[in-house]
This record gives sequence, C-alpha cells and structure tokens, in this order.
Amino acid sequence: MSIEAEPGKKTSGTLTVEDGIDQGTIIPLTIVNGRNPGPVLTVFAGIHGTEYVPVIVLQELAKEINPEELAGTLVLVHIANVPAFSGRSVYSSPVDNKNLNRVFPGKQDGSISERIAWVLTNELIKGSDYFIDAHGGEFNEQLVDYLYFYYGCPDTDLCKKSLMLAKAIGNKYLIPEKYTPDDGTPQATYSDLIAIRLGIPTITLEWGDRGKVEHEKVDFAKKGLNNVMRALGMLEGEVITFESQVYLLDEKFIISEHNGIVYTFVKKGQYVTKGTLIGYVSDYHGNLIEEYHSPIDGIIVTVTVAPAINKDNTIYRVARPANSFDF
Ligand SMILES: [Zn+2]
Repeated sequence: MSIEAEPGKKTSGTLTVEDGIDQGTIIPLTIVNGRNPGPVLTVFAGIHGTEYVPVIVLQELAKEINPEELAGTLVLVHIANVPAFSGRSVYSSPVDNKNLNRVFPGKQDGSISERIAWVLTNELIKGSDYFIDAHGGEFNEQLVDYLYFYYGCPDTDLCKKSLMLAKAIGNKYLIPEKYTPDDGTPQATYSDLIAIRLGIPTITLEWGDRGKVEHEKVDFAKKGLNNVMRALGMLEGEVITFESQVYLLDEKFIISEHNGIVYTFVKKGQYVTKGTLIGYVSDYHGNLIEEYHSPIDGIIVTVTVAPAINKDNTIYRVARPANSFDF
C-alpha cells in the first residue's frame, strides 16, 4: 500500500481510485501502527452513502487510539464510498447506480463502484488479519443494531474467530450466515464474503439509522471496537462479556413489487406474530396496492420509514430471536 506508518506512529492519507470509464475518486484512511507487533485489524465505514454512525466512530477513534499503547495495526477506512457519501445517496452510487457491497471483489476496469471495490479488496482486505465492515441504517431506514457472522467454514477456526469478533463487538443481535465457497464463476458479492474466503475472520455490522448520529450509539460502537482490540491482544485490559446477545434466525425479506408510497405500522425491534398487518404500499394517487403481513412470529429487524418506495426495495426484514444457535 502507498500509505505507511512507522511503528508507534499514525498516518492519514488517501488511496486513489484512478479514472476509468467514469471519473475516479479517493479513499480517505488512517493507519495506526502500534509500538508492538500484532495483528492487522481493518475497519470500513461508509460503504453506503448515508450510514453515518460508523463514519463518526472512526473519526473519533483515529484521534483517540494511542499507537504507543497498541500492538499491531489498526486500519480505519473513513469513507469507503466517497461518491455515495458526497451525493448523500441511499443504497447505490449516484455515478453508476451500483451497490458497492454487491460488487466485491470488484473489477480493475469496471465502473466506479467496481473500481473502488477492487482497490479496497487488493490494497486493504487482502493485507488484513481481521476485517470489520461497519454499516448502519440508511436515512430512510430504521433497524436494530445487528451483525452478520459466518458459520460452516471449511476451516472451523476461521468461523470461530469470526464469532469471537461478533461476541466482542457487543451488538445485541447476531445473524448467522452460512459460508459458501467460491464456485469459480466471476463474483459480485459482499466485502465480508470475499474476506472470509481469503481466510480472514470478519463481521458486517450495523450501528445507528435514519441518518442520525446519536452519541450513545457512537460511544457503544467505540466501546465495542476497543473490546475487539482487547480480545485480539492489540490493547491491554480485560475483555468485556456482553450478556444479552440474541441470535436472529429464519430471516425473511419483504420486498416491494411496486413504485409508490409506503405506510408502516411497526417499529424496529417490535415483536409481531405471523399474519400481523405491518404496513401497506399505495400508488402515487393514494390507492392501496398491496398490504404486508408478517410471514413469521418474530421481531422487526429493519423497516422503511421514509414514504418513497421502489420496486425491488426491501421494506421490512423480520426474524425469529433465539438464545442459542446450533452450528
Ligand atoms: Zn450499508
């Protein structure tokens, strides 16, 4: 990588995504290189345009972490997707209309989202020993603070280390995602799936929603990242055990089949029984098009709270809470 920090030092700089079939961009980051040797932990914020809590968390962490007290290297990617951030763009890039977290590992000669993914994969993910992709609800979404971790790795230790990250970060809801091997076809997928297939323990998590930066969320997130660094031996101190974590299973996506206006009757985290009316979509003249009912007994994981809805958008996700998960 073109940016380096001496042991015991911090460096901030930018990676360049070159111009291609469309305009290039930059990726701002900070590297905190610890005084003592240890693992490389890479954290991404800002893969999506309006997920702000992780962005502010990494701004603060970059100032607060003392490299003299750190073992290993902390790589903080402040805003992975500058075009989407500066365009305040929900889900996808305003330049090529692609969702950055569906195009990993990217393409060197692709459109801007694919080129960003290519640089993130090759310059940052591949050099990591542990990888955390931090998201949040976009400004049209409400969601509970959940995370994804993989189970069923061919190397059981790899999945065990991913679960260790999930436990140490402290998010209340843990969603198990089945590991799938690379089948040899060209891929366009999630950052964390590329990481875990490279043998790097990883989680993707959510902090905050609705475009808000709430200080309690920022403090919770920093507490979690500091705890992960203690669990990895990068910082000294006792590792906190979060007692109230819950698995979310049988996750169901409720997708809009229409462009229109959405009305929702439920809040994030609310428990609903199967068949409960949770909202509806009308056309632009107010005529009801479709009602939505919960497909299971479970909790509302994500809910769209802004009226605009488009065909193929997820309006709700519902999942069943469980105190244990059989790997
Ligand atoms: Zn996101």
